[in-house]
This record gives sequence, structure tokens and C-alpha cells, in this order.
Amino acid sequence: MIIFQNKIMDRSEVSIDIEDRGYQFGDGVYEVIRIYDGKLFEMEGHMKRLERSAGEIELSLPFPASEIIYSIKELIKHNNIKDGHVYMQITRGASSRNHPFPDNATPVLTAYTKEYEENPSATTEGIKALLADDIRWLRCDIKSLNLLGNVLGKQKAKDNGYDETIFHRGDTVTEGSSTNVFIVNNGQLVTHPATNLILNGITRKVVIDLAQNMSIPVREEEFTIDELLSADEVFITSTTIEVAPVTQINNTVLNDGKTGEVTRKLQEAFKNRISKVINKNEEIKTGD
Ligand code: PMP
Repeated sequence: MIIFQNKIMDRSEVSIDIEDRGYQFGDGVYEVIRIYDGKLFEMEGHMKRLERSAGEIELSLPFPASEIIYSIKELIKHNNIKDGHVYMQITRGASSRNHPFPDNATPVLTAYTKEYEENPSATTEGIKALLADDIRWLRCDIKSLNLLGNVLGKQKAKDNGYDETIFHRGDTVTEGSSTNVFIVNNGQLVTHPATNLILNGITRKVVIDLAQNMSIPVREEEFTIDELLSADEVFITSTTIEVAPVTQINNTVLNDGKTGEVTRKLQEAFKNRISKVINKNEEIKTGD
């Protein structure tokens, strides 16, 4: 079963208009929320970001966030999802194809769950990343459906036998094609500030919070390709891969190909944070 216009329906009963603006223009926004043991992780942070993304493209949520979450929880129960994620998207709706916003289109909400057969965060071996020019638009802070730059980046990595692409604008490292990037130097974390040039990842925020609780200094500052390649440790974060060590970038092997000490500590702290959610009846609140 899936969600269409906030109702739980059979997927085969749902039809999307070929002139839906999400389909034709990528005119919409989306979110992915991780499910651990049937519970939503960092749900509030994701819903706030969805509302923000929608607002930035002058779209209002067609249903209140609380009602969307209510339906999503029902869907999770209905589909009996233990570990996986829920994907949701909102488009500006269907209208005769024309670039300006239509006057009378009804935004379309869809959501579906995905169950993980294998935990995608089994990242102990580390990942290999390829550097690539960040050719995306200048509003990467909006989680919009326009992911072509990210898709091309990821494909380039795959074609060359890498797992992820790390983007740079000139000399400045921004983020991965579907992840945020952290470097570790002398026990300190550095990650690109949450500007228009990156998506302010929910996992990024959790990791910054965990680091601060562990008295690991965090600097949200730009860093260069040279600093990336010469860092003590590098790791990437996202909802699906959580905290993953990067052990190779292009031909440079980092930290002898091993997971660094700080990365390992943060992975452990992240697991503890998940356990808190699993052991609670309700989701942990993010606070912002
Ligand atoms: N940057 C980009 C470009 C992404 O697509 C993602 C994944 N949504 C992230 C960062 C990580 O964000 P989050 O931790 O919220 O999954």
C-alpha cells in the first residue's frame, strides 16, 4: 500500500497525470525518513525541512505535517515495516504545461515505504569516493525533485568503480551526491557550512550534536580539496548510510584504508542514538 493525497491506497489504484509538474518540471520537494524497528528517526527534523523546502519554492503543504505523519505511521504499520525508509514527495500538481505556476493546480502528495533486506549502513569497510565538479544549481539547500546533477555525479562514481562522488566548487569541497562530507583533523570536525551550496542533512545535524556532546570540536567552515585529501579521517553522512568512513578518494588512500578513531566513536554514538529511538514508544524530538 502507498499514500496518495494522504490516504492509504493500493498502488495500482493511483494514477498520476502526465502533466503533473513534478513529472515535467521536477517542480516539487521530497523527504526520506529512516525507519528503525518500525519507528521514524528524526521525524520532526525531516518534516521541518520538508516545510522549508516547500516554502522556498512557494508551495504550501497540501496537508498539515501532523496529518501526513499520522498517515505515514499508519502506512508503516499496514506494510509492517521494521527497518527501511519512507519516501514522500509533494509536487505542484497537474496543469496544462506552461512554466509559470498554474492558478488552480492541486499539489499532489505521494509516499511509500521501502523495507531494507540488508542494512545499507553496513559501512565498516569504508567507501571509495570520486571528486567531481559541482555542476548543480545554487539552491542545493532545497530538497527538490531536480536531482539531475546528483544523478550524473553518482553515475560517474559508479562507472569508475567508486561508491560516491564528492563535489567541489573550484577548490572548495561542498558535499557528496547524496551525502554530507566531514573531515577530521587533530580530533576536530570540519564540514561545509549549511549555506545554499549544500543540503543541510538531518544526519549531519545529528552528528554535529553528538560530537558536541562528546566534546569533539566542530567547525562549520569551508575546506579545500587539499585539506580533504590530507585529512586524518573523512566520513560521509546520510539518512540511509548513517556515518560511513571514506577510505579512498580518487587514487588517494586515507588513514591506511581503515576507519578512523573519531569516525568510529561517532558511529557508536549514532548507534546509541538509534537505540534510544528503538527503546522508546515515541520518536526522539530533534528540537529544531
Ligand atoms: N546531501 C545531499 C545532496 C543529499 O541528497 C542527502 C540525502 N538526502 C544528504 C546530503 C544527506 O541528508 P540527510 O542526512 O538528511 O539524509
